[in-house]
Amino acid sequence: MSDKPLDTFDTFDAPTAPSQRKVDDFEEFNPYQAPQSEFAIVTPGVPIFRDRKLLVFAKDYPLPDRCVLCNAPAEGKRIKKTLMWHNPAWYLLILFNLILYVLVAMIISKRAKVAAGICPRHRKRRTRAFLIGWLVLLVSTVLLPLATTISDPTLSTVGVGVALVLMIGSVIFLLFRTNFLSPKRITKTHVIIGNAGAAFLNSLPVGNAPTD
Ligand SMILES: [Zn+2]
Repeated sequence: MSDKPLDTFDTFDAPTAPSQRKVDDFEEFNPYQAPQSEFAIVTPGVPIFRDRKLLVFAKDYPLPDRCVLCNAPAEGKRIKKTLMWHNPAWYLLILFNLILYVLVAMIISKRAKVAAGICPRHRKRRTRAFLIGWLVLLVSTVLLPLATTISDPTLSTVGVGVALVLMIGSVIFLLFRTNFLSPKRITKTHVIIGNAGAAFLNSLPVGNAPTD
């Protein structure tokens, strides 16, 4: 295991032994390649496995007490989330009517409750990201109306611009840095996660994710 920090941006960048890196790189270029022989291939009924860079587990399966980002002991700490997923084609509805999309998404989305282990290091990083993101968002929402009251037009424009950049930046920062377990797909029986860490994935047997 490496001391290199992992987060949602670089969860697949964990250093690996040269032979392992070779396999990962190969999979990158040829996603349909059969699993390599050193991996155990799951038999039907195995509740948790990986399919290339996807984490796949049966709904309601209790995830192990290990960090899903770096595979370190989670020491009993978990993040509980209700994941929602729908076919991405439904996003087209946003072009017509945002409220209609939200209503439809609430109805058609498949849901799954998960409680995933997280190690002390990643827990701290997540908390810190939340604090920084929300603090900047708060500052920018105060700054924006204040900037409009500045009498000097140039200063006012600069103030409004800075406030808007901080506001949008903090929202993007929060979306990406605190995005823990993002569902790639939820089927009738399985949850498929797209941003689990490489170290955790490499500890699992290999299988094929179900498609429905
Ligand atoms: Zn961790």
